[in-house]
Amino acid sequence: MDIQSPSGRILVVEDEESISEPFAEALRRAGFEPLVTGTAAGALELAASEQPDLVMLDLALPDGDGRDVCRELRRNSDVPIMMLTARGTEMDKIVGLELGADDYVVKPFSAAEVISRIRAVLRRCNRAEPGREKPLRAGAIELDPGARIARAAGRELELSRKEFDLLAELMRHAGQVVKREDLMSEVWDTNWFGSTKTLDVHIGWLRRKLGDDPADPAYIETVRGVGFRFAAPEVEEP
Ligand code: CA
Repeated sequence: MDIQSPSGRILVVEDEESISEPFAEALRRAGFEPLVTGTAAGALELAASEQPDLVMLDLALPDGDGRDVCRELRRNSDVPIMMLTARGTEMDKIVGLELGADDYVVKPFSAAEVISRIRAVLRRCNRAEPGREKPLRAGAIELDPGARIARAAGRELELSRKEFDLLAELMRHAGQVVKREDLMSEVWDTNWFGSTKTLDVHIGWLRRKLGDDPADPAYIETVRGVGFRFAAPEVEEP
């Protein structure tokens, strides 16, 4: 029998017990260790004391806003965060992602589907860890996938994990067009069901951090209807 890969601790921050209880049970059955709290204060406390591998965070909590919790967690942690939201509008989703959340789930959700997305997020994060991949260089941009460091003209760029992964994927294919759907499946999830507007929002942030002018980009060119091209001509061997 195949032993499941090390499961991980999932912090579930949700005040509705009709959601958190069956979901915690589903996580347990899937081999995860759920930690459950119904408050923002509990979330910050458990995140600090238990060091979970992933946080599922409800947007509306009795003692605070999940977005504030997300912001607070991001101050000193890169833990993957999935926002739980009952509000299905695009704006809410994008706001959640802008705070540094990795993904979002709209309630009501299917436990099986969310668990498969949790696995995908954890796989992606683990895969990024050891990284024997060589540093990439193009123009003034240097990116070391293993060390997770990117620099522009020697200055370290403060990139979120998604921005970093996006830049890495574009730089791996420097000079070529990377299709929108390939970026989505590489950086997000193959079963991502959100809008691909998220991609444009992240490209916008990345350009801003690279100092790229969207009207006349030096690095990230939009290839209309197809995808994006990292324009710097060659990726030199370090
Ligand atoms: Ca709630």
